[in-house]
Amino acid sequence: MTPPERAAGPDRAVPPGPAVPPRFDLPEPDAFTRPYWEAAGEGRLLIRRCGGCGRAHHYPREFCPYCWSEDVEWERASGRATLYTWSVVHRNDLPPFGGRVPYVAAVVDLAEGPRMMTEVVECAHGDLRIGMGLTVTFREAVPVFRPGR
Ligand SMILES: [Zn+2]
Repeated sequence: MTPPERAAGPDRAVPPGPAVPPRFDLPEPDAFTRPYWEAAGEGRLLIRRCGGCGRAHHYPREFCPYCWSEDVEWERASGRATLYTWSVVHRNDLPPFGGRVPYVAAVVDLAEGPRMMTEVVECAHGDLRIGMGLTVTFREAVPVFRPGR
């Protein structure tokens, strides 16, 4: 009689993990957000503009969050923004953030109107000011902001 196949259990050998640790900072584009991430990879920040009421929004949605119109198109943003608020993050256990601390998690107001969660880079923490001018830049195809216009 042959023994039953052994079920996976706590004493089963753990397969070796991936050589590269998982990352929690990179996007997972789907069919709808792919244009946004592809543009970001080419150094362009996209927002969504409603043909019904004319307002822009971010994050990207398939319908306008103000008037529910589905007449919404991609538009290239100027990349200019002002700092609305921020927090200096000193601990984050999710890779690769642990290697970046301290970093500046921020909310910025895009010149076109939408408010966006992002990160401020290339700025001494003591120099951060509400309302300061910022310009988009890209780190590994992810939009972040630095001081200046
Ligand atoms: Zn609208």
